[in-house]
Amino acid sequence: MSEESYGDGTRSVRAGEGPAVPGAPLRPSPVFAAPFHLGDLPPRAGGVDAYARTEQPTLRDFEAAVGELDGGRCLSFSTGMAALTAAVMACVGAGDRVVLPSDGYYATRMLAAQELVRFGVEVEYVSTPEVGAFAAGGGLAGAAMVLLETPSNPQLDVCDIAAVARAARAAGALVAVDNTTATPLGQRPLELGAHLTVGSDTKALTGHSDLLLGHVSTTDDDLFARLKGFRDRTGSTPGPFEAWLGHRSMSTLDLRLARQAANAAAVAELLAGSPAVTGLRWPWRPSDPSFALASRQMLRANGVLSCELADEDAVARLLAATRLWSAATSFGGVHSTIDRRAQWGGDAVPAGFVRLSCGIEDTADLVADLSAALDGLG
Ligand SMILES: *Cc1c(COP(=O)(O)O)cnc(C)c1O
Repeated sequence: MSEESYGDGTRSVRAGEGPAVPGAPLRPSPVFAAPFHLGDLPPRAGGVDAYARTEQPTLRDFEAAVGELDGGRCLSFSTGMAALTAAVMACVGAGDRVVLPSDGYYATRMLAAQELVRFGVEVEYVSTPEVGAFAAGGGLAGAAMVLLETPSNPQLDVCDIAAVARAARAAGALVAVDNTTATPLGQRPLELGAHLTVGSDTKALTGHSDLLLGHVSTTDDDLFARLKGFRDRTGSTPGPFEAWLGHRSMSTLDLRLARQAANAAAVAELLAGSPAVTGLRWPWRPSDPSFALASRQMLRANGVLSCELADEDAVARLLAATRLWSAATSFGGVHSTIDRRAQWGGDAVPAGFVRLSCGIEDTADLVADLSAALDGLG
C-alpha cells in the first residue's frame, strides 16, 4: 500500500497494509491461537497456519509493516536481545571472529562475554568513534561479522555505516546495525549497505513503555531463511498480543518522534546553558561531535540525550526536585525519563552520567520543570 514517496506519518500508519476491504477492520484484531485447526488437511497445506511459534497472522501483519519501514523483510522477536542473539548466532559459528561495539548496549556485551565465547566465538570490542578507522585500516580482515550501534547507547556517538559496510563487504564480513535509538524512520541501515538491521522495539518504535519486542530485517533471502530457522528452533517468537500492540503503537511513531525531537532540542539548549551540566550530547545539536555525520546519515532526530552532572547525589537531588521526569531505564517512550547509567554497573561512564529520554509532554512544561530542578542544584 504505502510507497516510497509517502511521508513518515503516512508510512507509520499504512506500512504493510493492503487495500482496504469493505466490512473488514482497518487493522485486524489479534488472532489468539497456539495451534490452528488443521481439519483434514496436511500441515501447512496451501500456506495455512499450523502452529504459532512458526507462523501466525498477527505477527505477519506487524512484520510486514516494520519491514516496509526498514526497506527489507522483517522477523520479529520477543525482545531486542532475542533479536540480537538471533542476528549473531544464526550467522556465525565456532572459530569465527565478531567485532562488537565496546561502548554499546551493555547486555550485548554480556551476550558476547557470557554466551558467545562459550560456543567458541571470538569477540573483539571496538568503540563507535573508532570503528570507522578500524574497518578502513583492515581490522575486519578475517572477521565473520561486525555489529555497529549508531547512535550508540548511552553515549550517542555515531559511526559511518556506509563506510564500514564497504570495508566489511570487501573483507567478506557481515554487517549488522543495532538501529534501536534511531528507529526505522530515523535511519535505514540496509540502504547504507548493512546486511542486517536490528532493533529493540521495546523502545521508541512502539514507545509506550508497556511491552518487550525486537526485530531483525534484511534484504538477503538466505540470511532471512537462516534467521527464520533460528527463531523457529529456539522459540523466541513474540505472542500475538505483543505483535498487535506493537503494530498499533507503531502507527504514531512519526508523531511521537516529532514531539520527542522538538522536546530534545529545547532540553539540549537548557542543559547547555546550565552550570550544573557538562558533556552534553545530542547528535542534532550543531556543536555536537556527531552532528556532521548524523545529519548526513540519518533521516531525522529523536528525543534521546546524555550529559553529566557532578555526581550521584546531584542526580538524586535533580530527580527529587522534578515532577515530570521519572527515574527509569529504557527510553523512547511517551514519558520523559532520566537514567543514571552508572547505577547498573555495565557502562564505563562517570557516576553523574545520565541518559535523558524526552517524552511527548508539552515542551514548555518539560523545560520549566527541568529548569527549576537544575536551578535547585545550585
Ligand atoms: C534496549 C536495547 C536493547 C535490548 O532490547 P530489549 O528489548 O530490552 O531486549 C538492545 N540494543 C539497544 C541499543 C537497546 O537500547
